[in-house]
Amino acid sequence: MLQDIKSLTREELETQFAAWQQPKYRVAQLLEWLYVHRVTSWEAMTNLPKPLREKLQENFSLQTLELLRKQGAPDTTQKFLWRLHDHALIESVLIPANPALYGEASDRHTLCVSTQVGCAYGCKFCASGLDGWKRNLTPDEIVEQVMAVERLGPQSTVRSQSSAAQPPTGDCGLRTVDNLVVMGMGEPLANYDHLLQALRILNAPWGGGIGARKITISTSGLAPQIRRLADEPLQFRLAISLHGATDEVRNKIMPVNRKYPLKELVAACEHYQGQKGRMLTFEYILIAGVNDSIEQVRPLAALARKLFAKVNLIPYNKVEGLPWERPDEETQEKFLAALEKQKVVATLRREKGHDIDAACGQLRLKTERGLHGAAG
Ligand code: SAH
Ligand code: SF4
Repeated sequence: MLQDIKSLTREELETQFAAWQQPKYRVAQLLEWLYVHRVTSWEAMTNLPKPLREKLQENFSLQTLELLRKQGAPDTTQKFLWRLHDHALIESVLIPANPALYGEASDRHTLCVSTQVGCAYGCKFCASGLDGWKRNLTPDEIVEQVMAVERLGPQSTVRSQSSAAQPPTGDCGLRTVDNLVVMGMGEPLANYDHLLQALRILNAPWGGGIGARKITISTSGLAPQIRRLADEPLQFRLAISLHGATDEVRNKIMPVNRKYPLKELVAACEHYQGQKGRMLTFEYILIAGVNDSIEQVRPLAALARKLFAKVNLIPYNKVEGLPWERPDEETQEKFLAALEKQKVVATLRREKGHDIDAACGQLRLKTERGLHGAAG
């Protein structure tokens, strides 16, 4: 299979174009078609000479994601289920920064992208890992999740004015996605090279134009890759899916903890901190009877203080077929209050109607099982 054009950086394209004896400005033209107009065919690149377009077509693919299902309305959280060329399914989730409580259009959005089809890490509570790992996404498949959502627009006021017939001309103000979180299906740091290549493209001014500080990578705790990430030049934010503040609790729900226990994870985070400054967040799903007891608060607070990490408490989203439940609201609030009393910066996600907010992986799981006629 041909490599996709959206897996290449500007420098790599320049090398290729130089080998073809093409002038450099052709690369700039190509990039504008890909990342400003976000076209989906070579023919659309009308200012590139036909022989060059043919050469590109012979040597690279230009893939798009096929939208299979969409859930949610504009100005609420929207979930996109995409079908890849091999018919594998992945999800992206678009979250408005200020949910339209008062009926106003929201123009700031965070996009949550997937990095793998399935996941090999098998956290006990997670839908993404239930059917195991299928494959890594290629860089273009990660990049294209952003471009495909941009093409659709938030379907609210800002973008609906720019019709497909008149693509925006280089005006980044027409972007939908301001923030990127790599928290969809898969373990991002287990697909390290493709992830980093995709993020270089999404971060570059000639590409996605999303600032590195507006990109958050979430990991279940792959200590060696956290160290590697610390040594990259780009300043990404890092979220650690902690979900337990002792090895005992983490071992129960996250098999990765047996490979990289807390001591190792914390040391890797300290290294990250040393290189990058205070850019750490702990994700902590509250699961009833598993990690929501007050005894977890003290070790959690100690870890958060040690690493200057902010704690995001997330009430567990029920996954069909799994026995876990979210604690009642009183328990959630008590946990939060106890953490704050320990001088930790913490937030609790309180929104209702979590059907659509369900974590990534769930829509895919339902659809896969539906498609294949299995229970679920
Ligand atoms: N593999 C990475 C990123 C993808 S998971 C990681 O584990 O960090 C993104 C986040 O969703 C993680 O914090 C994960 O623990 C959380 N998550 C998974 N299933 C969930 C569920 N059912 N309810 C709430 N959060 C969930
Ligand atoms: Fe994989 Fe993250 Fe789900 Fe764990 S929580 S199974 S690492 S996607």
